[in-house]
Amino acid sequence: MPLPRARIVTLNAALGPLDYRVPDGMAVEPGSVVVAPLGPRQMLGVAWEAERLPSEEVGDNRLRPLAGLVEVPPVRPALRRLAEWTADYYLSPLASVLRMILPSSSALAGPRTMVEYRPTGNAPARLTPQREQALARIEGRQGTVRELAALAEVSEAVMRGLVNAGALERVEVDGDQPFPEPDPDFAPPQLSDEQREAAASLTGAIGGGFDPTLLDGVTGSGKTEVYFEAIAEALRQDKQVLVLLPEIALTEPFLTRFTARFGCEPVAWHSDLRSSQRRRAWRAIASGEARVTVGARSSLFLPYANLGLIVVDEAHEPSFKQEEGVQYHARDVAVMRGHFEEIPVILASATPAIETRHMVEIGRYREVQLTERHAGASMPAIRAIDLTQDPPPRGRWLAPSLVAELQANLDAGEQSLLFLNRRGFAPLTLCRHCGHRFQCPNCTAWMVEHRLMHRLACHHCGHVMPPPKACPECGEEDSLVACGPGVERIADEVAELFPDARTAIVTSDTIWSPARAAEFVRAMDAGELDIVVGTQLVTKGYHFPNLTLVGVVDADLGLQGGDLRAAERSFQQIQQVAGRAGRGDKPGRVLVQTHDPDAPVIAALVSGDGPGFYAAETEARRDAAMPPFGRLAAIIVSSEDKAEAEGVARRIGHAAPKVDDMAVFGPAPAPLAMLRGRHRQRLLIHAARKLDVQDVIRDWLGGVEWGSKVRVAVDVDPYSF
Ligand code: ADP
Ligand code: ZN
Repeated sequence: MPLPRARIVTLNAALGPLDYRVPDGMAVEPGSVVVAPLGPRQMLGVAWEAERLPSEEVGDNRLRPLAGLVEVPPVRPALRRLAEWTADYYLSPLASVLRMILPSSSALAGPRTMVEYRPTGNAPARLTPQREQALARIEGRQGTVRELAALAEVSEAVMRGLVNAGALERVEVDGDQPFPEPDPDFAPPQLSDEQREAAASLTGAIGGGFDPTLLDGVTGSGKTEVYFEAIAEALRQDKQVLVLLPEIALTEPFLTRFTARFGCEPVAWHSDLRSSQRRRAWRAIASGEARVTVGARSSLFLPYANLGLIVVDEAHEPSFKQEEGVQYHARDVAVMRGHFEEIPVILASATPAIETRHMVEIGRYREVQLTERHAGASMPAIRAIDLTQDPPPRGRWLAPSLVAELQANLDAGEQSLLFLNRRGFAPLTLCRHCGHRFQCPNCTAWMVEHRLMHRLACHHCGHVMPPPKACPECGEEDSLVACGPGVERIADEVAELFPDARTAIVTSDTIWSPARAAEFVRAMDAGELDIVVGTQLVTKGYHFPNLTLVGVVDADLGLQGGDLRAAERSFQQIQQVAGRAGRGDKPGRVLVQTHDPDAPVIAALVSGDGPGFYAAETEARRDAAMPPFGRLAAIIVSSEDKAEAEGVARRIGHAAPKVDDMAVFGPAPAPLAMLRGRHRQRLLIHAARKLDVQDVIRDWLGGVEWGSKVRVAVDVDPYSF
């Protein structure tokens, strides 16, 4: 029913809901997307049920009229309920959640035809170094002047100069060009008996209401093939599907597989989209025309017209946890969206999180299992290399027995993968003469040497400096040493050991776009690579039949720091990277370098006793009332002024309410005591499961005031602490 006045949640997170007068002839209902005047400006907003959002009463005569109604479908009730839940649970403004639903105003109100530019291949008459750099970086790309300038790291003026010089040509893009329709019967696979049973269990749930299911299958067992059947069934029932992937680098291999199964690509949604692509995808999602969307966590909040299934692939991945803004966990919000939309949610993983297994154990989630690898491939054997018994030579990192296996694999013409979860050449540079360590000026972190890029870089804030020639402290030259290995250093070692081997480094530095990921996959498939050195980026999703040896360079790395999830995370990571080996008809083997082969994680990996490891970890969590048996939340107080951050944190600490079943620790410096130039203090809250800790924190923080230079953020269910 059209409303005479409307309560509007604008995209301005600093403001609560505001009331407006609805002009005659404008049909506003809950969910309508509107343009609202805010002071001298105009802002997008969404009309909400007034009774659900208390606001100051304003008399009719003092209301300003809405400036416009945007011609897009209203935000549906299920998504409004999800937005409310997310704002409540993660203690965030509703406006911040709305920003994820309506992420681009050009998608909503911008022109249908967008102007972009692409290289013509003609060199401009005057080729400055800057123009040369710009043209090299944007080869094969297309976008607005602003997007291309950002891509090439030059000014927009340089780009416009290239347009005028005829090196770039203008292209008009139709922002509403339709997407092709995936065909559920394009190329169905022959499923094994076990796969067919699993697929039947998943397809049977489509159209039948809320149904969270853990699809739990060893690496290479065909989880993707199986959930593709559930997607096919949703398509047959004319419903939309969302597939969440943890990493944008994984989208390209996924698109290829999807196309082979369904005859065309799904709609992709991630931060790398050009604004014209974003507009086209958003509108197709909202109209229902986009049948299958694959995306990073942010695609979870899009306004699907007719969602019938959500799949979270690699559901154990920590990158589903958003660490800025609304600090939500996409895996958990996916389940909540399934709840409000009354649809099935599939969480696929070979190494599910303890939280997820627990939900299965208490009967909240169903479980569908795949126990065998496809086509008779066997699970790789995992063996530990005890570095105390079989140490690498001085200044080296690969044990002789691992080197021998790499040699054997080269001789056999098979591919190998060395895994080390550390980008760059060395994590620390220090002066041998005075002990000076190169630290980031903005963060409590070492500057990591990136030899390939000729610089030191902070992995937290992006600060870079040229490689130093002398120590800034004592002035000594030739005294600087690189400490510890990163993937680049391991690649150097491989190059020295095997000068003829064809190697590649796979990290976010070398695979920064879906296109680069596709090129890596192509080179692997074509047999153009022998040894790959990679970070966690290679632990996921890939399927290389000729990859038969995996070496874990430092299995102890993840266990340092004593984090609650350290052991679980190490187990998952090593199990996942091990799962890359022997996926074809040749058996795989995995060698794990460690100083402590008796550590429970290593012992469980070697003996293959995953269930035993999980059971022990779960018991330890239960004994300590840690998640999922208890709740955690962190309050992070940050400011550029250290004393101010400490002062506010102390006041928040003093104001802590005395509540049964809740303990407050701190304030103390947060694990990253300084980040991007802000000093960070943390209070950690440990509470019983049954306590509504959000309610407590809301009341608590509501009673403390702080200045505008201080930021107070709450991290509910923090991933690491
Ligand atoms: P997971 O996701 O469990 O690691 P995948 O779905 O990636 O497993 O399957 C591993 C490989 O085996 C893929 O290359 C996939 O195409 C192939 N595969 C799995 N099941 C089948 C099947 N029934 N028919 C043909 N190929 C299959
Ligand atoms: Zn930094």
